[in-house]
Amino acid sequence: MILPDYISPIVGCRTWLWDNVGLRSLCGERWHPGRVLVARCRAAAVVGTIAGRAEGDDVHDAPQPNCTCGVYASKSFEHLHTTKYARCGLYGEVNLWGTVVEHEQGWRTQFAYPKSLYLPSDTLPHSSAPIQDRLRGLIAYGVNIFVGDDTRNIPLWTKDSGLNSAGLDHLIEIGKEHCDRPQSHQILKKGDRPPGGARPRDSDGSSTLTADGCKPWF
Ligand SMILES: [Zn+2]
Repeated sequence: MILPDYISPIVGCRTWLWDNVGLRSLCGERWHPGRVLVARCRAAAVVGTIAGRAEGDDVHDAPQPNCTCGVYASKSFEHLHTTKYARCGLYGEVNLWGTVVEHEQGWRTQFAYPKSLYLPSDTLPHSSAPIQDRLRGLIAYGVNIFVGDDTRNIPLWTKDSGLNSAGLDHLIEIGKEHCDRPQSHQILKKGDRPPGGARPRDSDGSSTLTADGCKPWF
């Protein structure tokens, strides 16, 4: 999605879980393609009903300095690696805006959307069918995707050029190494784009995230 000109996002780093549908926070929150993730505080659902509010209602606008709510992001990839979070899934950059609470190693923010995604080779599934579905799920976000290892990042899909042959070749190399060659190049071809593109939708408050129950920063 393309952010409006009047938004000057902070760029943070974070890790996502990755399945056939797309991205989720490590605490399970779904990130929908083309849709801004809006933080909500659900502390009431965690600590019990607060008088005067139905359980599940927002306690307050998120994030708040004295709470744990908000969309979490780290300030650096180094932090993701030193804390081992980078090994929990795929990692990448994330645009952050709205209300921001800054911490020493990261931020909690009101709004977020992925900016770029990096697929470590060791997180790629090694059977052909899942990789096709899962790549489609990632491409739907409309952000640049890279694949690689600790020494290099190869474009796999970019907003300007679609699927990249070097990235696809790298996927095939990985498949060969595991004796189960991915066939993604037969279905997803260079230059492919998501059907209709990823269209941003207005934040409607229906996306939620609370840090309660999540590990720090994610
Ligand atoms: Zn809160």
